[in-house]
Amino acid sequence: MITAYIGLGSNLLDPLAQLRKAVRAVADLPQSRLRRVSNAYRSAAVGPGEQPDYLNAVIQLDTDLEAPRLLAALQAIEQHQGRVRTVRWGPRSLDLDILLYGDARIDSPTLSVPHPAMRERNFVLYPLAAIAGPQLLLPDGEYLGTLTASCPRGDLVDTGLRLVD
Ligand code: ATP
Ligand code: CA
Ligand code: CA
Repeated sequence: MITAYIGLGSNLLDPLAQLRKAVRAVADLPQSRLRRVSNAYRSAAVGPGEQPDYLNAVIQLDTDLEAPRLLAALQAIEQHQGRVRTVRWGPRSLDLDILLYGDARIDSPTLSVPHPAMRERNFVLYPLAAIAGPQLLLPDGEYLGTLTASCPRGDLVDTGLRLVD
């Protein structure tokens, strides 16, 4: 199986409930096994206009789904949880991104892995480090700990809220 890391985000329609529901849906994916789930982390939204705060988390998933199939399955979960695509980076009920897919580097029109923005995003790097550890080696040969060391925590807080029982 491939070990994939999936980033979750929500800032609409009860974000904590959205993330918990999404974790259950990801756990139910075929040919896959949920390994670890970070706590929910809270931060102010970046993006157009005034938006509610975000909750973010990261899931470690072992899967035999090919990356494009995994992406399609994650997008189906987003749709099922009421995601409406309006402005880019606008508020959303649920966002699921493939951060890492084993050691794969993918650069297709619909899928870029590792997720191109993850190295700048505290709300990705800190929950990822919480479940994977600083020794996680990225496909480009960098350690996750090197990335977190150069990405300020800013206003990001670990809420201590768990997404699985
Ligand atoms: P960002 O990618 O900067 O986090 P976003 O998550 O708001 O922005 P979306 O509107 O959710 O962007 O997705 C736009 C498109 O990004 C998707 O339709 C998908 O094809 C593409 N995409 C490319 N790489 C990935 C990836 N690693 N995970 C999820 N979607 C991806
Ligand atoms: Ca995203
Ligand atoms: Ca996305």
